[in-house]
Amino acid sequence: MPGRIAVLPDDITNKIAAGEVIERPASIVKELLENALDAGATDITVELARGGCGSIKVTDNGEGIEPEDASLAFSRYATSKIYHFDDIYKVCSFGFRGEALPSIASVSRVELITRKGESLAGIRVIAESGEIKEIAEAGCPEGTSISVTRIFEPVPVRRKFLKSELTEQGHCIDVISRLALSHPAVRLTVIANGREILNVPAAKDMGERLALVLGADFLDQMFFFSGEGEGMKIHGFASGPSLTRANARHIYCFVNKRFIRDHQINHAVMTAYRHLIEGKRYPACVLFVDISPRDVDVNVHPAKLEVRFRNPREVYQLVVGTLSHALEDFSAPPPFRDGDRASETRLPPTHIHHAGVEEALKRYSLSSGGGRHFLERPIFNRSQSTPAPAFHLFEQREDSASAPITFTDLAFLGQADGTYLIFQSEDWMILLDQHAAHERIIFENLKKKAARSDSPPASQRLLLPEVISLSPRDFITLKELLPLLAAAGFEMEPFGHDTLVVKAVPAGLFLPEPKRVLMDFVEEFANRESASLDENREKVYAFLACKGAVKAGQNLSSAEVTALCADLDSIPHVQTCPHGRPVFISFAFRDLERMFKRR
Ligand code: ADP
Ligand code: MG
Repeated sequence: MPGRIAVLPDDITNKIAAGEVIERPASIVKELLENALDAGATDITVELARGGCGSIKVTDNGEGIEPEDASLAFSRYATSKIYHFDDIYKVCSFGFRGEALPSIASVSRVELITRKGESLAGIRVIAESGEIKEIAEAGCPEGTSISVTRIFEPVPVRRKFLKSELTEQGHCIDVISRLALSHPAVRLTVIANGREILNVPAAKDMGERLALVLGADFLDQMFFFSGEGEGMKIHGFASGPSLTRANARHIYCFVNKRFIRDHQINHAVMTAYRHLIEGKRYPACVLFVDISPRDVDVNVHPAKLEVRFRNPREVYQLVVGTLSHALEDFSAPPPFRDGDRASETRLPPTHIHHAGVEEALKRYSLSSGGGRHFLERPIFNRSQSTPAPAFHLFEQREDSASAPITFTDLAFLGQADGTYLIFQSEDWMILLDQHAAHERIIFENLKKKAARSDSPPASQRLLLPEVISLSPRDFITLKELLPLLAAAGFEMEPFGHDTLVVKAVPAGLFLPEPKRVLMDFVEEFANRESASLDENREKVYAFLACKGAVKAGQNLSSAEVTALCADLDSIPHVQTCPHGRPVFISFAFRDLERMFKRR
């Protein structure tokens, strides 16, 4: 039964507020950085220990806090940014609720040292578990430094929800990179466990800032766009249609420099790219919306990650219109010039496709064991009755359905739709999905190799090492998974802060564009809940199998088909691909006869 109503004491309300805004170390980093930016800082250093789970320190050269106000900053609803409710429709600052510092201090120990430019001495305030422990004069440079330790000690449950330190550090880098992107004039330094991992000077151009979230490899494929509407302006950078990513994570939207997630805006961006990029691929786009604070409500989300526009349709249309136009200009072929031979020597797309297929086949034959003699003669032998495969369309027969099928004993009849291989045995016709089959083969072979620690994984050296420059965040993700990739046969070395050199890829895989595959790999695994090593390993193998398998639409020679069959015969679980889709479907001639009314 509920008892009497009581007003909760401050220490509890602060912890409750902290629950909404301080979810993980990255939330602390975000609040502290935003405060530094609100204070007009132009030089900010972030120090992280153990991915921000150990300690977080943010030092800025902003305007500092009055000595008398310093302890007040830890009171709930204490803010210097608004004085009346309506002010939130004027604010250009990140903060206005006066919630962050008390929330952080209620779940950790905070030491604040600050000095205003005109003051001779600074002040130090220490708060712990929501209480002010110490206030004293302190000598310090102009600006503010806030150091947070014993993070989440007062709320042990929250600690349990934290992921690995590398993952938490990744979230911190996300937050820092986004703020760096919307504040190019601010110099930012990030030190992790005593080592400088990021140092971006005040930017002259946006390139370096864009590389923070997209990776340097993307830059020369980006174009600038800008547009203006009623009471709003937009500008930004977007990728040409030829460079896409595997998810929408790289559509960044900032409203008045505040990073937000907005479904409608993402939709607007995708609409501009409609019919320009393949399905299930996404552009990279960094979009800045500048709009009068009166026309946007920034107070609709606890962590301020969403906003509400007064006129969402207008914003939507401005984004679609501006981007569509810019894309038209970007994609327009260069005007034909007399004597310009370059355009004539460009291969039409089909040739590129065929070159890719040839490459695939070469690699595939390599993987299928050069020593094996390919059977060119028909293998089908009428006198030998083959057992019925498991997936057949009509009734299942008790006697034969579970018997294993030997693919090399089947007669290969041909390929349908560039995808389905048609076989027959005495009693069955079998349709095999070449992609699903190859996927299963790669998956099982990777697993088998990994289980045998005595032999190194089979690798294929690249003729020229491939250099990949990633965003610091993606670099962390990939670095964490390097051992798993190495076990699969990738040979890669980190090179500097954000670059990897790929020297070899797993043998037996069709990977004509290792860069794109690794980029997609990062997308797939970034922000993934940390799973057990075994689970991760299987996911990595399934991913590689899918990317590295022959595709639907690739022609296979009969020799390749034979090799595929031999491989299938050598592995378990041939019924399904690693994602659970069927590898083959069988039809009993008996059923066909019935369908054709022959019996
Ligand atoms: P809010 O940002 O919503 O005002 P906070 O709890 O984040 O609330 O901060 C409370 C107040 O402390 C701010 O309004 C600001 O006056 C002061 N403050 C916090 N951090 C800094 C900083 N780095 N530099 C100057 N002032 C700061
Ligand atoms: Mg704040």
